[in-house]
Amino acid sequence: MRISSLVLFLAMYSLSECESAAADGELEIATFSVEITPALGLPVGQGFIPILETAEHPLFARGILLKDSGTACVICTLDLMEVHNESYDFLRQAIASAAGVDESHVALQCLHQHTAPAVATGAQRYELEEDDSRRIATADYLVQLAKNLSKAVSESKKNWKRVTHIGSGRAKVEQVASNRRIERPDGSIQGRSSNTKSAPALRELPEGLIDPWVRTVSLEEGDRPVAQLHYYASHPQSFYGDGRASSDVPGIIREQLEKDTGAFQLYLTGCGGDVAFGKYNDGSRAARSELVARLQAGIEKSITSITRETAAPLKWSVDSMSFPMRTDEPFSEAANRRILADPDAGAGQRRKAAIALAWIERVKSGRPVQLSCLAIGRVRMLHLPGEPFVQYQLAAQKMLADQFVCVAGYGDCGMGYIGGDRIYNDRGGYEQTYAFAGPCEDLLSQTMKRLLTAASTDESPTP
Ligand SMILES: [Zn+2]
Repeated sequence: MRISSLVLFLAMYSLSECESAAADGELEIATFSVEITPALGLPVGQGFIPILETAEHPLFARGILLKDSGTACVICTLDLMEVHNESYDFLRQAIASAAGVDESHVALQCLHQHTAPAVATGAQRYELEEDDSRRIATADYLVQLAKNLSKAVSESKKNWKRVTHIGSGRAKVEQVASNRRIERPDGSIQGRSSNTKSAPALRELPEGLIDPWVRTVSLEEGDRPVAQLHYYASHPQSFYGDGRASSDVPGIIREQLEKDTGAFQLYLTGCGGDVAFGKYNDGSRAARSELVARLQAGIEKSITSITRETAAPLKWSVDSMSFPMRTDEPFSEAANRRILADPDAGAGQRRKAAIALAWIERVKSGRPVQLSCLAIGRVRMLHLPGEPFVQYQLAAQKMLADQFVCVAGYGDCGMGYIGGDRIYNDRGGYEQTYAFAGPCEDLLSQTMKRLLTAASTDESPTP
């Protein structure tokens, strides 16, 4: 099935199925989990990683539906590297349709594992011929993914559970995250990526700016957790690039916690654009086991620290951002078209040029990127696009210091990294070479602030 048959397919799960609202004062939850590991041996995704030949840990789409008498919404996570633009919209629409909610009431966030494909069908139209096997395999995968997700969401609605309390807790995680942009004495940037196998000296550099806290939101009936959401800001990969699919550190922990707690578990990657495991990871299996143990210990402590309040009405706020274009020549339409026309351009160059062009097309179309925030009582769950730097998560917490603010990044990743404005002038560093939007620090901060404060007022920002 091709994307063009979307309309037909979505009709199977049409809005006529829309669930009746929960009774007054009641909050209800449904959960879903469906395996989304691509068929092995096929060139699915953008080709950042080799074709997957083995599946060490299956990849999943997992999420929750929530409803009360006034609102319904979905938070869905994907064990994928990222999803861009039209591919993102396609999946979000499929989820919305199956859930019977408006598309704006679906938060769709990737975990960003690098042992999983990135999906950007819009970019592939620039990069690959129509009959290219990668383009076909990726489009087929996306349609199958939407179909499986729709089915899982639809089925989940047969099993609503009551939520009477909402809990929140946090704990410090030791020796997992580290900043990947370390400033040298001369002001230039030393990069430090996810593993430092080939550059052990980088482990001696300081941890740098991170958010060491993992935060947990627990949705409970009485004192029994039904579902728990954990938020931690770091690139989640231990080692990759060996033809192996894996849900990696967060997936391994999620599975174990679900066995231990009996509650549905969701992991969300926070603002980890400039954060990775590098300081504490030599890329070995032993290092992965240690990272799992330390992050899991943090999450378990976070669960232990949970305090509960009576569940309050849901408040879902939506806002949108029109990102500015980059104005430097290498990011222009002309420069990227030249790369794609150059027979000597390498695969990585072509891929990046195509992603840049797909983003330019998106901005020119005038279709903004949506951000959302779910508020329940004093808990705020903020959903951001792209690969935001940790500064945004720390800023969001400061904006509502008396509330419990959790942030998930990696929604629509069409614009790539979202750093602070200074990155465009930095000497050294990788992230600004994969940031397709221009400086937007103020714009993003203001949008986050409107979303976070909307729940405290009667006015919701208009999308
Ligand atoms: Zn990344």
